[in-house]
Amino acid sequence: MAILLFAEHDNVTLSEQTAKALSAAAKIGGDIDILVAGKNVRVVAEASAKLSGVRTVLVAESDALENQLAENAATLIVSLSGDYDTIVAPATANGKNILPRVAALLDVMQISEVMDVVDADTFKRPIYAGNAVEVVQTTDATKVMTIRTSSFGATEDGSTTAPIKSIDVGATDAGKSSFIENILSQNDRPELGSAKIIVSGGRALGSEEKFKAVITPLADKLGAAVGASRAAVDAGYAPNDLQVGQTGKVVAPDLYIACGISGAIQHLAGMKDSKVIVAINTDEDAPIFQVADYGIVGDLFDVLPELEGQL
Ligand code: FAD
Repeated sequence: MAILLFAEHDNVTLSEQTAKALSAAAKIGGDIDILVAGKNVRVVAEASAKLSGVRTVLVAESDALENQLAENAATLIVSLSGDYDTIVAPATANGKNILPRVAALLDVMQISEVMDVVDADTFKRPIYAGNAVEVVQTTDATKVMTIRTSSFGATEDGSTTAPIKSIDVGATDAGKSSFIENILSQNDRPELGSAKIIVSGGRALGSEEKFKAVITPLADKLGAAVGASRAAVDAGYAPNDLQVGQTGKVVAPDLYIACGISGAIQHLAGMKDSKVIVAINTDEDAPIFQVADYGIVGDLFDVLPELEGQL
């Protein structure tokens, strides 16, 4: 059994999502190679080589691979696929962009958002917005899957370092797309997907100004990321990239504080695997209390400043 793990990185830093997807790959079992595709990615390759349980780090560098364009990355992965039984990537924007194309080119069915490994052919994944878990068994010769990284812990660095091997990338420019620009939102806070603590606000905040005035100080105090319900995002209280839920980000921090969020299934789909959930809501029957470890029935405009003051 050999597994190829497509690394998530920005050419400079190896994302923790790779170490989490590696834990899933280790559970499948077999020799695991990490593919670092990009440009000037030596530092990323070295970080990958330190991770425990890696056989080899393959480095593929070219201009065409610098920006993780799906067409080019998929061409590369398919060219290597003959040596592997399983190809995995974290279910990030890149992974979700690239692996379906790999699966289509190999004429196999992708298994998306794997949240547990039963055995080398059988996997658990969420359906119906996370309200049910499907067990999928595949007979495909090459298994292609994205990993829901919030379901796996990150693999630690090991005591040895895997060899790093540069590979000949050949003609990886598929010529079907070109990179124009990357507009990143500027944020000093921890990234939602990897934050240990998230303070999230809902429709109850009432305005962008109040969202900032009440949620931000508590998040600052806790060194937390800020999240939001879709109602808060749709109303313009918080930017789109903070949305947690079925159509937002799926998170599983150590602590999730839901403030004025009712707990609709679409929101729960994005946060119910958080380790400790605290809910603050005026309605004691709000569904969020069904998943909360700690519930405060009260007005968030009283509770949050008090909590922040106590901290
Ligand atoms: P509400 O449901 O209006 O709840 C506000 C809560 O605040 C209430 O429980 C109320 O009791 C409480 N409250 C009011 N005043 C106060 C106060 N002063 N102090 C404390 N509590 C107070 N939603 C998401 O969040 N993420 C998604 O990804 C998502 N995807 C969706 C996809 C689809 C296809 C659909 C149909 C819906 C989706 N939704 C999503 C929307 C979801 O159904 C809910 O409408 C949304 O989550 C509600 O947001 P909310 O809890 O902030 O607002």
